[in-house]
Amino acid sequence: MSCIFCKIISGELPSHKVYEDENVLAFLDISPVNPGHTLVVPKKHFVDLEDADEATLCAVIKAVKRVGLSIKNNLGAAGYNLGMNNGAVAGQVVPHLHFHLMPRQAGDGLKLWPQQAYGPGEAEEILQKIKIF
Ligand code: 5GP
Ligand code: ZN
Repeated sequence: MSCIFCKIISGELPSHKVYEDENVLAFLDISPVNPGHTLVVPKKHFVDLEDADEATLCAVIKAVKRVGLSIKNNLGAAGYNLGMNNGAVAGQVVPHLHFHLMPRQAGDGLKLWPQQAYGPGEAEEILQKIKIF
């Protein structure tokens, strides 16, 4: 077992645990974007969202909500960003499914991703490729 988050879950590596239940562990990110930046992970090893079953995803998102509420109530955070890097090209470094819960304070200066505009007809073209219904 070489997965660093599996080692944290098993206790082989230390972590600052924020929340734990039968299926989920939440612990402080070692390199926070803001104090309280927490990683919420399923205890079972899944690489990414497509790999995980729906029951696991429900358990993880419920834990995200609980930890988010604690961050809002106890860190004075007005809100938080929820991030999930799905795949290496999206910046996923640790191949064990995890959500980043990043507390936000007014004026903290944290920048979100840059945005751009669609060219003429481009939105419709993309839509034809990806729409599901
Ligand atoms: P990713 O880029 O895969 O979405 O995010 C991985 C996150 O895991 C990074 O934010 C990184 O700081 C965090 N991380 C990597 N190794 C460790 C570790 O050993 N302990 C903890 N607590 N966080 C880690
Ligand atoms: Zn793992």
